[in-house]
Amino acid sequence: MSIYIAIDIGGTQMRAAAFPIEGYDPIRVQKIPTHSPNASPQERLILLIKSVCPENETINSIGVAAPGPMNPKTGVIYTAPNIAEFRDFALTDYLENEFQVPAFLDNDANLAALGEWLIGAGKGHDHLLYFTISTGIGSGIIVDGKLLHGESGIAAELGHVTVLPDGPICGCGHPGHLEALASGKNIARWVKKELAKGVESTLRNAKKVTAKRIAKAAKKGDPLAIMAFERAGEHIGLALASFLHAFNPSIVVFGGGVSLSGDLLLEPIRRSVKNHVMNSKFTDNLVITTAALGDDAGMIGALILARTAIEQ
Ligand SMILES: [Zn+2]
Repeated sequence: MSIYIAIDIGGTQMRAAAFPIEGYDPIRVQKIPTHSPNASPQERLILLIKSVCPENETINSIGVAAPGPMNPKTGVIYTAPNIAEFRDFALTDYLENEFQVPAFLDNDANLAALGEWLIGAGKGHDHLLYFTISTGIGSGIIVDGKLLHGESGIAAELGHVTVLPDGPICGCGHPGHLEALASGKNIARWVKKELAKGVESTLRNAKKVTAKRIAKAAKKGDPLAIMAFERAGEHIGLALASFLHAFNPSIVVFGGGVSLSGDLLLEPIRRSVKNHVMNSKFTDNLVITTAALGDDAGMIGALILARTAIEQ
């Protein structure tokens, strides 16, 4: 029997799983911290893969989901947030040398989009937008049943569209990007600013103001917490209206930690989209929903990449 290896690399932890030829139930899964004083993330990645690879099994190929920017065609990661060692790192060459099997790489949000499209919330749709709303905002775009990569493989950075030219500075250094207004970290930042101004809220007693904590307060009726999600939803909806004009998807899927707040975020998004879209034809049959695969989306996408790229 032979297997496929799927890997999901993050700034804090790396996960690997061995999968059989068919199906989505892993044979073995392992998770380790990305950083350790004893070995580089590169060396730890090799050990991690070996730890999930059953003895006497042949690896067919390896699929990797990693944070970008990167070039999926060449398998080179340009930079990875929180992994300084991955600067201009030829990841697929590195794995192919070590294991002597084909290796494939793509952006984690792209692969999550692929996973949600083929076996998750987006099943049956050929035009899909996927967003992961967590610390930052990542995204993936399926057009005509294919992932959109662009000329250099760095397309689909929808979190970095400008929605407020004189707005707060984004993690990428530019003002007013969607991520700077509506990611989990920035929802919390806005609430903290309002609290500092003296706005009344039950969040004043919270040890740590996080998006999760704000969602909890909003569900209990806290006006500031509700306003925080209304504001994030308004900005996401405003940007989304433009994305609908560009891509005309039939479904928009929201994943990532902040999307677990469900309608608290989706309802303001739906309202805002309707206010900003040029023609109701763009929203008439549009599904706006939450992701189905949770934390596994990137890993499932990496598995699909490993299986399909080897056939091409
Ligand atoms: Zn940005």
